[in-house]
Amino acid sequence: MMLEIESVDGYYGKSHILKGLSLEVGDDEIVALLGRNGAGKTTTYRGIMGVLPRIEGRITMHGEDITGLPPDEVYNRNISWIPERRRIFANLDVQENLEMGLTDRSERESRFQEVFDLFPRLEERLDQQAGTLSGGEQQMLAIGRALVSHPDLILVDEPFEGLMPTLVDDVADALAKLAEGDVAMLIADQRTEETLELADSAYIIENGRIVHSDSAAGVASDGDLQEKYLGVQ
Ligand code: ATP
Repeated sequence: MMLEIESVDGYYGKSHILKGLSLEVGDDEIVALLGRNGAGKTTTYRGIMGVLPRIEGRITMHGEDITGLPPDEVYNRNISWIPERRRIFANLDVQENLEMGLTDRSERESRFQEVFDLFPRLEERLDQQAGTLSGGEQQMLAIGRALVSHPDLILVDEPFEGLMPTLVDDVADALAKLAEGDVAMLIADQRTEETLELADSAYIIENGRIVHSDSAAGVASDGDLQEKYLGVQ
């Protein structure tokens, strides 16, 4: 296993949010983390990345304990996080944003080329200020910035949030291309159908607990399950 989360409890002050949460991501595996608003998806990512105020249980990456390590040390274990709402640097251009993700400047050309092969549109807009890109392009830039550090695992939070339907397809295609490579991903999003199409396996989270896990195809074909845990309440 690449990432293993074992019986993790997570807290903000006195609020007990993650409750005995366990999940696994295998090498090169694409895993969907699905749940309603407030279920605990972002908190799970914060727990992995070492930015949750208090955490109990155990998180390992390639068998090495990373529970509660500070974010830079988690990042050094080849885990990259794409937070929700595409936190790009709006005042910097595309090139400068990508440079922010570089860990090894000597590999700039080859790492950038990998991103451009995936997202040719970014190469066409290298000098454009990132804040003026379309929502879909900004998401591609956020993914590209995560990619230039050559992560083994990418944590993607709500990649489709706030995108127009046509841009949802663009970002889904980009993530699908990325998924073909040798990278593992944990993807959380409210868009169940698109997320499951990308994924190999899926977990459903409710009130900080994993309530169901199965193959992505298994969850995709179970309308009652989706209605129960993911439907509009
Ligand atoms: P969404 O899809 O709406 O982003 P989510 O599944 O990512 O939802 P989280 O953001 O992980 O959900 O939130 C889980 C719970 O933790 C919610 O009840 C939320 O109100 C609570 N929470 C989040 N951040 C804090 C905080 N800083 N302090 C206290 N409670 C918090």
